[in-house]
Amino acid sequence: MLDFKGCPRCGGDLHLSRDQYGSYKECLQCGYVEDVPDRVKVGDAVAEASEELVPGAA
Ligand SMILES: [Zn+2]
Repeated sequence: MLDFKGCPRCGGDLHLSRDQYGSYKECLQCGYVEDVPDRVKVGDAVAEASEELVPGAA
């Protein structure tokens, strides 16, 4: 997925990528990287947090 002219540094094209930590946008022209925090919240972070909550313990 490409975000054309979405780079705040050079005005280049941002490419949406993903790794184990979540999603991020990377500029094809200058290498600028921008995190996409929304994806992290709906992913592993929420799952790990819910496992720590033990309803019967309180
Ligand atoms: Zn750029």
